[in-house]
Amino acid sequence: MAGKARACRARVVAVRRLTPRVLEADLRMEEPPELDFAAGQWVSVPFGPKTVRAYSIASPPTRPRVLTLCADVSPGGLGSRWFAGLAPGAAVGFTGPLGGFVLARADARRPLFVAEEIGIVPVRSILAWLDETGFGRPARLVAWARDPGGLVYDAECRSLARRHPAFVYHAVVASADGPWREAAGGLAEVVGRVASDVGGLVAYVAGGEATIHAVRDLLVAKGLERKSVKWEKFW
Ligand SMILES: Cc1cc2nc3c(=O)[nH]c(=O)nc-3n(C[C@H](O)[C@H](O)[C@H](O)COP(=O)(O)OP(=O)(O)OC[C@H]3O[C@@H](n4cnc5c(N)ncnc54)[C@H](O)[C@@H]3O)c2cc1C
Repeated sequence: MAGKARACRARVVAVRRLTPRVLEADLRMEEPPELDFAAGQWVSVPFGPKTVRAYSIASPPTRPRVLTLCADVSPGGLGSRWFAGLAPGAAVGFTGPLGGFVLARADARRPLFVAEEIGIVPVRSILAWLDETGFGRPARLVAWARDPGGLVYDAECRSLARRHPAFVYHAVVASADGPWREAAGGLAEVVGRVASDVGGLVAYVAGGEATIHAVRDLLVAKGLERKSVKWEKFW
């Protein structure tokens, strides 16, 4: 169980560029010294009395002293500019942990993760956590991106799939002429093939609203209960 959300202070200790538009930042917790969170949760960064941006924690809860955040800075707004400007030594204030896009250890259902582009971040935390603590159940991930460079954590997911036979990874890249040009349509089609049997399934969908709706409608049409589709809307 994760702790209650609270105001936190941390300091940037490292920044890495994963792709031309995606950055990772490691934040060492200062107050509290460890953040008690569940894999899949996020933090809220304030930019004014009523302006915040949310960032999912990319690292697993087994590492509570240094959190990794990961952002696609291509939207170019307030949040992207802030993230792109982070440098070692910078102080960061946020509220967290927040959100219910989490996997309960006791839930025996087979998770199907669906990530559109940077929506992979909370899924990465959950997968890293399962990797460290034991999968114990079959799991699948369908990740979609506009181009191969948009498949953030692709190498890691491939390595995970090689090490855990119970984990299957489907990476889908959009093509100009194929059915994958639009995330919502392309992803839903792959998900339809991957989830031929929705019995005992629980879906975790993260990314844009159109994709979340398309994937949820498809799974519900196949017989999955609506409440068995968890989602995290990034945009
Ligand atoms: C629960 C939650 C968790 C999130 N976790 C992450 C995360 O881990 N990493 C991350 O990069 N972002 C994450 N986001 C999105 C993040 O909060 C910001 O919206 C994002 O960084 C853009 O902020 P901005 O101020 O730069 O752009 P804004 O000026 O706020 O947005 C510009 C426009 O771009 C759209 N948009 C935002 N992000 C994307 C995107 N990736 N692709 C396409 N369009 C987009 C917005 O809807 C808006 O229309 C999360 C959002 C939520 C609600």
